[in-house]
Amino acid sequence: MRRRRATMTRTIGVIGGGQLARMMVPAAINLGVDIRVLAEADGMAAALAASSVGDYRDVDTVLAFARGVDAVTFDHEHVPQAVLRALVDAGVAVHPGPDALRYAQDKVLMRERLTELGLPVPIWARVTSPAELGDFLRANGGVAVVKTPRGGYDGKGVRVVRDAADADDWFAALADASPNDDSDAAPALLVEELVDFRRELAQSVARRPSGDIVAWPVVESVQRDGVCAEVIAPAPQAALRASTVASDIAYAVAEGVGVTGVLAVELFETTDDRLLVNELAMRPHNSGHWSIDGSTTSQFEQHLRAVLDLPLGATGCRDAWSVMVNVFGGPEAGGLAGRYPRMFADHPTVKVHNYGKESRPGRKVGHVTAGGDELEEVVFQARAAAALLAT
Ligand code: ADP
Repeated sequence: MRRRRATMTRTIGVIGGGQLARMMVPAAINLGVDIRVLAEADGMAAALAASSVGDYRDVDTVLAFARGVDAVTFDHEHVPQAVLRALVDAGVAVHPGPDALRYAQDKVLMRERLTELGLPVPIWARVTSPAELGDFLRANGGVAVVKTPRGGYDGKGVRVVRDAADADDWFAALADASPNDDSDAAPALLVEELVDFRRELAQSVARRPSGDIVAWPVVESVQRDGVCAEVIAPAPQAALRASTVASDIAYAVAEGVGVTGVLAVELFETTDDRLLVNELAMRPHNSGHWSIDGSTTSQFEQHLRAVLDLPLGATGCRDAWSVMVNVFGGPEAGGLAGRYPRMFADHPTVKVHNYGKESRPGRKVGHVTAGGDELEEVVFQARAAAALLAT
């Protein structure tokens, strides 16, 4: 039998050129894994590893990109099912595979599947008209959260409604939309109870194709305007019960849906002490960025290991507390690096992750992580460093 290569070097193809692909690069370099990125455009965050620029919705482009790689994985969840299935049919190892990814691509499918699996979710319904939304509002105290099932991120596509007419524009847009490429069902919106939550938690796990799963500690994720702003690892005052319940839920999702690679489960901790699943992400996730500096194995290294079906690394914390703060915007001139002299001098324990993006108001351009024994001090260091970088 002819060996394909003289060495055992493995090659991973990442579809999407954003910051998640970028943060896989150092992990790949350390493991001696070749990494190739199919970026959407020149100059994206993962440009340093972008071997191709092209449209991830185009089957031929993606098949050509995947030629010669050992496994394909993703920076985002938007690759159409038809493209994913073409990859699988061509014999490419795709992680996570299309059958899992569909539940991260469509919030209605996700809610249906989690309900089938008996996992705790907010009260929800699939609605196709303002009249159906009105019925849901009447049955649920006159207030609800409406979501577009596809393409939402960072709170876009999420709206609190109090009247059946409050989502008229989205229902109108549905009528014009083509049916989901993965479903025969008519296009619909997701409506949910407005959950009375104390805080939001996130539980990440990684699962190998052969079935092994490991979990990181559950973390608290602080959202501002629907966007993750800060993460505290581990989640403060997470009673043993909450952390066990969170990891049990994430294991059940990973197994029930057949995820391979990293899975992040976003959870609501309700005021009456229940955990409800909000969202699933089947890739490294913002709530796991702390693990680069704060865990024995970062989510990016773990994702590569899982995708290559290698044994998974330990997931313990390096510090008593890790706090990650996102950097939004960035200075108008000189980028984040222009702030390094002051930031590095004032915050020598803080680690910076600069996504190499141009500054723009509200844009996620990087994050910082601080670690240590005293939570208050760690929070202060991370927030102060992020604030210096952001302006
Ligand atoms: P995205 O896909 O944009 O991240 P999410 O479904 O995660 O959207 O919602 C974004 C944020 O909106 C959540 O982090 C949470 O703060 C709030 N949210 C979402 N669903 C509900 C709900 N059912 N009840 C209360 N708040 C919600």
